[in-house]
Amino acid sequence: MIIILNSTATEPDIEELSDVLRARGLGVHLSRGAETTIVGAIGALDEEKSQLAEQFNALPYVERVVPISKPYKVVGKSFRPGGSIVEVRGVKIGGNQLCVMAGPCTVESPEMLFETAKYVKEQGAHILRGGAFKPSTSPYSFHGMGEDGLKLLAEARDLTGMPIITEVMDTRDVELVGKYADILQIGTRNMANYSLLKAIGATQIPVMLKRGWASTIEEWLQAAEYIASSGNPNIILCERGIRTFETYTRNTFDINAIPAVKELSHLPIIADPAHGTGRWTLVNAVSRAAIAAGADGIMIEVHPTPSKALKDGGQSLTFYSFNQLMRDIAPIANAVGKSL
Ligand code: PEP
Ligand code: MN
Repeated sequence: MIIILNSTATEPDIEELSDVLRARGLGVHLSRGAETTIVGAIGALDEEKSQLAEQFNALPYVERVVPISKPYKVVGKSFRPGGSIVEVRGVKIGGNQLCVMAGPCTVESPEMLFETAKYVKEQGAHILRGGAFKPSTSPYSFHGMGEDGLKLLAEARDLTGMPIITEVMDTRDVELVGKYADILQIGTRNMANYSLLKAIGATQIPVMLKRGWASTIEEWLQAAEYIASSGNPNIILCERGIRTFETYTRNTFDINAIPAVKELSHLPIIADPAHGTGRWTLVNAVSRAAIAAGADGIMIEVHPTPSKALKDGGQSLTFYSFNQLMRDIAPIANAVGKSL
């Protein structure tokens, strides 16, 4: 790490700091500029860096401490420069495959789920989505069917052969949801629920980690690092939009996050333009943009009758629009060398 001294630091200050660093077993590299002296502290262990940085920041002659390595390792690009692929029941997420996850926001009834599952499968979707445990900003909105919803998802899997992804909100439900789900979803509201991240990290169940709506890309990757460092390497990231000053859209889909994640991490990334925009009319264009930017797949909310949906109807595609979407993304996938 690099310690930048302030302009009033004296020779005795530099001596004192050097002694402190050596006493802690660190190498010292001094670089004296006309106005500022920079001290390189060499050999700190990753796990002690943030504590050391805080301690050195407390010294009166230190202006700031800059860690030079990233605060995540296992999910970092250099850990697996070729990128990683998560495989569920023969479906690959990552690599040259473009993965389409589709289904209702929330499982509402057997009829609507099975009808949607069959339709999206016919159109070429690879994974069925559907919430059984639903987080919600309002305590009064529909919170899902719970285990009955999971049972219906498992039935839909039997019916169509598609693996299923569904959200788990609480450490107490990881075992239950894990009995049914092929991929566990961690929603935006739980990205920084470290107990949940560790509990899922203790399993080997593939997990899709959505970005917190107010989280930086680095915080998101650190959340993924919680899962990976707890022992579960089967992680997929999902950009689902962040909170900005814009109100026309529900969130602002951060297109930057896609190539940025590709630069920083080896994990596959899925785009969620439904939550990223909150408007079904924008889902097609934002899906195409995300695929063009390098996303490994998209997650789309589809409902037989969005006007009657219990949740997220305004951002859900009808069967007709989903059919259109599947046709529109094919040439984009092709252009970026991905097969559908
Ligand atoms: C969802 O996928 O339906 C959902 C609740 O997503 P998010 O956590 O991104 O709001
Ligand atoms: Mn939703």
